[in-house]
Parts: sequence; structure tokens; C-alpha cells
Amino acid sequence: MIEDPNCLFCKIAAGKIPSEKVYEDDEIYAFKDIHPAAPVHFLLIPKKHIPMLESADATDIPLLGRMMELAPRLANEQGCRLGKDGGFRVMVNNGADGGQEVYHLHMHVMGGSRPWKK
Ligand code: AMP
Ligand code: ZN
Repeated sequence: MIEDPNCLFCKIAAGKIPSEKVYEDDEIYAFKDIHPAAPVHFLLIPKKHIPMLESADATDIPLLGRMMELAPRLANEQGCRLGKDGGFRVMVNNGADGGQEVYHLHMHVMGGSRPWKK
């Protein structure tokens, strides 16, 4: 089901636009960023169309929590080393001043050996 027919990431989550899938369950979809800024760079999105982090409300807390809990596990599966000497970055851009370009909430997960572009 496409939540918002005009939304790129809703179409990706619904499989209407191709993506390199990293993970999927009934609420969450993860796929590789098309312009990676680091050796590992994927996006975690809710299947539900939440435009921005600031659009989320209290009913979304379990979903956001699940996304945060998934990030390290998927980062590790994608080749990031866990622990203090390894690690990864989790980033959410919110609005124009935050650098948001796609208005469907997404969590960037970036990692791998340095240097990165960002
Ligand atoms: P943001 O600036 O936080 O809105 O990030 C949007 C991200 O989506 C950018 O890093 C883009 O490279 C990525 N992106 C845009 N279109 C696609 C796509 N079709 N498949 C995968 N990643 C995409
Ligand atoms: Zn959407």
C-alpha cells in the first residue's frame, strides 16, 4: 500500500521504485542511499508516511524506538564494526535548515573506514 502517492520513499517502501533493500518488516524498510557519503550508507524509514521528525507524535514512539534499536544491528550487518574503535553515525535531517531533501522521515546510517565525504 502506498501511503502518499506523491512521495518517493513511500513508493520505495512499497516496491514501486527499485532500491537496494537492507531490511524490511511490517513497519520499517531500509535501503542503500543512492549517493553514499560513506562506505556504508543506508536509510531507515517507517513505512508510515511521516514527513519530518517534527511530524512524529507520541503514538510514533515505539516505531522510532524500533528504528533506533535496529540501526546498530543493521550497521553491523552492512560491515560497520561495533564498539568504541569502530562505530557509525545516525543522522536525521529535519526541514530545509536541517538539510532535508526528501519529506518522508528517514534515518541516515553511515559508517565504514574513514575518510568519508561528510
Ligand atoms: P535528506 O537530505 O536527509 O532528505 O536525504 C535524502 C537522501 O535520500 C539523500 O542522501 C539521497 O542520496 C537519498 N536518495 C534520494 N533518492 C534516492 C533513491 N531513489 N534511492 C536511494 N536513496 C535516495
Ligand atoms: Zn512517504
